[in-house]
Amino acid sequence: MAIDFRIRDFFYPVGIYRLRRTFERTQWLPPEELRAYQEQRLAVIIKQAYNHVPYYHHLFEKLGLRPSDIRGIDDLKKLPLLSKDTVRREGANLLADNSARYRPIVYKTSGTSGTPMDLYLDKNARILEFVYYWRYWSWAGYKLGDRFAELGSFYFLQRDYLGEEVSSWQPHLRRLMLNSGRIGILHAKEMAAAIRKYRPRFLKGLASAVYFLALCFKEAGITDLSFRAIFSTSEVLTPQYRAMAESVFNCPVLDSYGHMEGAVAISQCMQSGYHINSDYGLLEFNNIKSLEDGKTVLGRAVGTSLYNLAMPFIRYDVGDDIELFSEPKSCPCGRTIPLVKAVHGRSEDAIVTPDGRFITSMFIVPEFTEGIRFVQFIQETKTNLRINVVPDEAWDDKQQEKLSYCVKRLVGKNMNVFIHRIMPDEIVTDVSGKIRTVISSVKVGS
Ligand SMILES: [Zn+2]
Repeated sequence: MAIDFRIRDFFYPVGIYRLRRTFERTQWLPPEELRAYQEQRLAVIIKQAYNHVPYYHHLFEKLGLRPSDIRGIDDLKKLPLLSKDTVRREGANLLADNSARYRPIVYKTSGTSGTPMDLYLDKNARILEFVYYWRYWSWAGYKLGDRFAELGSFYFLQRDYLGEEVSSWQPHLRRLMLNSGRIGILHAKEMAAAIRKYRPRFLKGLASAVYFLALCFKEAGITDLSFRAIFSTSEVLTPQYRAMAESVFNCPVLDSYGHMEGAVAISQCMQSGYHINSDYGLLEFNNIKSLEDGKTVLGRAVGTSLYNLAMPFIRYDVGDDIELFSEPKSCPCGRTIPLVKAVHGRSEDAIVTPDGRFITSMFIVPEFTEGIRFVQFIQETKTNLRINVVPDEAWDDKQQEKLSYCVKRLVGKNMNVFIHRIMPDEIVTDVSGKIRTVISSVKVGS
């Protein structure tokens, strides 16, 4: 998740403790009680959507439905899927007309998919986000107030630093920010020194950023650092990524899958089970199919928010496949929230800069620019970066300059940046036909 939440977004101690108590209980509930909890929340969402969200009100009217027609999870199928394109197109129509009462904050997000959108998360949705992370991390022994390190670039760029600072300690959050834009052999010793000084017990980061950090530490001969656990987010954690991080930092990596829209959250426990956080959001699997190997069963993730009344998403097509067990399985950890086999989320290349840094956070760039419908970064040679932009009406020379400026701050001045306006049908896909935001023809180590 690219958003850097501010501490004031979470200043709701009563709400947080209340939901935390609920979440401590719901992860162990028998399936029928968990379902009842979901359906109770769903009823609130459906009523709010019909009464106060223009897009849903019109949709229900068009389909001749009333909130009473959606009595439970099985009735959700009466409603169509909500695509990312629809979210972009409908924009303010998805915002509840009484949203002010729920104290929403707007977050500009790339969704890490190259398609930026404005999301409104209300107070309860922010409490949910906090409590979800708190529980997931506590599975690995985290206690509120423990020091942790987090890899990211957004924080460094947003504060209008030159983006060159390697680390920053935030005593009030007990967080050591590590600049993922500075991951490279050149800065490894400095980054390691900050970790030694502040002794974070956990590390959080994008799967690829965690991998490249471990790789650079290994290459630089830094082998004395360890964490209790690493929390990997937002991208596919490949076996190669996991093995490198676990051996260099001598701890387990707990993978997770989620998105800012707040409808789906899957996280790994210490027994390696990928748990669906069914109390966080309602996850359905659409278009379930078996692959030719006869073993792999995939379903497309479709999520429904259970808390965000300011901008509720119902049957939101997240766009990723989840690998399912052919029969329901229980986890040795004893939690009853269901398991999936694996998550097939985003997988992007890193940009390798001429000075040897691995940039894994190109997707944050649209958050500093207006007028981008879709953006794609293609590293053609060691020194040439092509940026394909599908613009919308807000795009102009000024936005182009802003984009170029922001990219330069990430990749450095020794890289040539070429921006091209393209049409949607000119978006480059990889060999499997999948659209990727970052494609590099420069191989790591070359
Ligand atoms: Zn488990």
